[in-house]
Amino acid sequence: MIEQGLITQEQLEIGIQEQRKSGELLGSVLFSLGFISQKDLFKLLTISSANQEESEQDKYNADIPLEIENLVKQSSSLFQREGAIGKKELDSAYSPLVNLVEKIIVDGIQRSATDIHINPDAKGVRIRYRVDGVLQHSMFLPNELLNPIVSRFKVMGRMNIAESRIPQDGSAEFPYKNRKLDLRISTFPIIGGENVVVRVLDKSKLRIGLENLGFFDEDIEKLNESIQLPFGMILVTGPTGSGKTTTLYSCLSIINTVSRNIFTLEDPVEYQLPMARQSQINVKAGLTFATGLRSILRQDPDVILVGEMRDAETAELAIRASLTGHLVFSTIHTNDAISSIARIIDIGIDPFLISTTIDCIVAQRLVRSLCEECKESVPPFSPQYSKLGIDPSTSQLFRPKGCPACDGSGFKGRSVIYEILKITPKIRDLINVKASLEEVRRQAATEGFREMHEVALEKVRRGITTLDEVSHATRMHF
Ligand SMILES: [Zn+2]
Repeated sequence: MIEQGLITQEQLEIGIQEQRKSGELLGSVLFSLGFISQKDLFKLLTISSANQEESEQDKYNADIPLEIENLVKQSSSLFQREGAIGKKELDSAYSPLVNLVEKIIVDGIQRSATDIHINPDAKGVRIRYRVDGVLQHSMFLPNELLNPIVSRFKVMGRMNIAESRIPQDGSAEFPYKNRKLDLRISTFPIIGGENVVVRVLDKSKLRIGLENLGFFDEDIEKLNESIQLPFGMILVTGPTGSGKTTTLYSCLSIINTVSRNIFTLEDPVEYQLPMARQSQINVKAGLTFATGLRSILRQDPDVILVGEMRDAETAELAIRASLTGHLVFSTIHTNDAISSIARIIDIGIDPFLISTTIDCIVAQRLVRSLCEECKESVPPFSPQYSKLGIDPSTSQLFRPKGCPACDGSGFKGRSVIYEILKITPKIRDLINVKASLEEVRRQAATEGFREMHEVALEKVRRGITTLDEVSHATRMHF
């Protein structure tokens, strides 16, 4: 301030003394003493915040690539100049902000992220990507950019840009390398601002095909028998993000021919199957799984995919559809194949209807696959060999290492671990008499049912994944 000729040395000393007594900010003290004007006070605040920004910037330097850093500088100067940002600026394709947001999205797509997270943090804005099921840190941007970034996403998702107090959701098409990706944008007000999560639906990344997903040949055969039936029900169960939809699409693509009328009810539609008639659930407009299913039955379908059996009405309609000559695919939220029987009985469906309609139940999860470029063998003295009953002199286990191909994580892509319960005549009888799940399990085991962890351990033995991954996914300790 002295350098800028705003105050003298004496005035500063008086100010400092006063400040010691009052504990107020030096600028306000000088203002209240009448040494500086309000205009000077503002100038002073800008100077100090500029200094602060500079030191903050140093901190970011480590994380932000140069290009982004320049964008940030341009963006912040733009917002300082304009005060508030108008919608026009948010839309302009040349705006640095639009470039920054595009960069955030493109980086995510290039890293094969399924979700892009924009998290307000006490010290700035954290950008993270979910890759192969795990969140990865990407960059840390100055706080000033939070609202502009959130607003830009809202414009893209055709959401209300003025509303920041309630959660909103929207969607956008994002052009990338001659194709269009679907973005599902969700905002949620939290302390410190709005949190944004963008789900990236990249139809070209969805690897359709039971083999691609990681089903073993002998099990694909088993599934094929059920898929080829003219009617009945096939259920896929597992937590969110366990690849249920991909399995269902893979099944549908096997039977997708001109001679079959396939309908789907989904929320959201993640992949477009040629020839299938797919519809998107729209609860606001009144298109729910139940109302949609009712109408589809009047559209002369052969095969119906019901995204999820959430309630009794949907479950009943789906069961009825499979009883009346349709092949129905659906999902349900349970942890394993056998307990989904109990779950459907709980919803209020008669055990007899369940046993006569359901042909097979697949329960599944995803584990990360070891990167083929860099995986290294587990040393022969590791206890892992004895745990799995493997002789280290004849076969090897592998562990992650990390290389440029896998972004240093040691893993690349994911593989399914699963169990397939066939409703055989004997299991049908057990369901009809409401036998305990344990009895069903015992009977299934005698008929060759392999539990999920057995399939998972087989994948460890084959060097596809690791024991840690399997323990994590199955919550079992090995
Ligand atoms: Zn690698």
